[in-house]
Amino acid sequence: GGFAELDLLGAAGLLDQHERARLADVHHLAQTLLRRQSVDPWNREEFAPDLLAVLADAGLGALQLEGTSALFRGLVHAEVARADLSMSTVLGVHNELVVGVVDALGSPEQRRALLPRLAAMRSLGAFALTEPEHGSDVARGLTTTARRDGTDWVLDGAKRWIGLATVAEFAIVWARDVADGTVRAFVVGTDLPGFAAVPIRNKIGLRIMQNADVTLDGVRVPESSRLPGAVGFGAVNTVLRHSRAWVGWQAVGLQLAALEVARSYVRERQQFGRPLAGFQLVQQSLARMAGNAASSLALMVQVARLQDAGTLEMAHAAMVKATCTAQARETVALGRNLLGGNGMTTDYEMAKLFGDAEAMYTYEGTQEINQLIVGRALTGVSAFV
Ligand code: FAD
Repeated sequence: GGFAELDLLGAAGLLDQHERARLADVHHLAQTLLRRQSVDPWNREEFAPDLLAVLADAGLGALQLEGTSALFRGLVHAEVARADLSMSTVLGVHNELVVGVVDALGSPEQRRALLPRLAAMRSLGAFALTEPEHGSDVARGLTTTARRDGTDWVLDGAKRWIGLATVAEFAIVWARDVADGTVRAFVVGTDLPGFAAVPIRNKIGLRIMQNADVTLDGVRVPESSRLPGAVGFGAVNTVLRHSRAWVGWQAVGLQLAALEVARSYVRERQQFGRPLAGFQLVQQSLARMAGNAASSLALMVQVARLQDAGTLEMAHAAMVKATCTAQARETVALGRNLLGGNGMTTDYEMAKLFGDAEAMYTYEGTQEINQLIVGRALTGVSAFV
């Protein structure tokens, strides 16, 4: 431990012995089996089943269901993000959005059928909310429709950016009931007739995590596929509150990775006859990066306390999402600069972190949308309408 080892400000010391030992295992696995191994698939923009197996074998598919502390779960997400943000996003979508939604909004039968397979990561789901024409305003604008037809529902519409839709067994599709305008959610098999997912190519970050354009053309599902707890947009928000906060942990991990890469580079690289590490302006950049990472971490430690106490509000989650991802964006920009020209190639890792930070800055509500949620809570005035 200790400052120089970048041990997360001693945050692991707040865990009990069992969770601390498990976290150390996750750190070791992530550093030895994910970090270097993720560079090739990232460059080739390919999903990596062997990296998924690392997460599954470590038992991380059940994070949400085991009754661990929020701080443990958060630190696990930070450790995985420190190794690779794409696989961290796979893990986060899986636990926070898919397992979280089925567990919170599913029927007892749906929970029995889906949760054991999800916990083992033998099954993956996708979370299909965003649409081509409705991203930030999806709550108001959602146009995918659900029409009751006898004992079935028929779904029509399009979704965009849907993570894992090309590899998942099912997607949780959010749609508007044509009868009464209510937003509902359905568990939709990705092999059903009328369901199509086309990968979005040439992303500048998060290149292992496959995102897709999805079309739903008269997809027919039985009533038993409807999540009974998903009635109206309030239901989405109970889940998004926690998944938004989770992005803050990703920002912590990404910043620690940037700090590690930059620090080791400036110790080696010589200019003007001595290591870059010896120049005052270089140390200033490192200090700024460390300060950003540490303040993101400190925010998240307190957020974990609120989660365990059951008092996390959407405004808290939006505030930390906006703040930590902005800090991460500055941190990776400073780090990329410290590597000079070598910061431009993923051979030195930093460019990968730099691209990945952009994805994190945009999903789970952009910077502006999260700031407007905070602004609304502070002023009592909504800037959305
Ligand atoms: P827009 O809403 O068009 O926003 C464009 C710009 O306008 C942004 O800067 C935004 O902040 C700004 N803006 C919009 N409204 C306002 C306003 N009122 N005031 C000020 N500025 C405003 N979605 C899913 O459902 N499932 C997923 O698995 C998923 N994964 C994703 C993975 C990646 C890598 C990315 C990039 C996105 C993913 N998304 C996913 C979608 C993501 O949530 C949306 O991209 C995001 O909400 C922004 O929507 P948009 O892209 O339509 O941008």
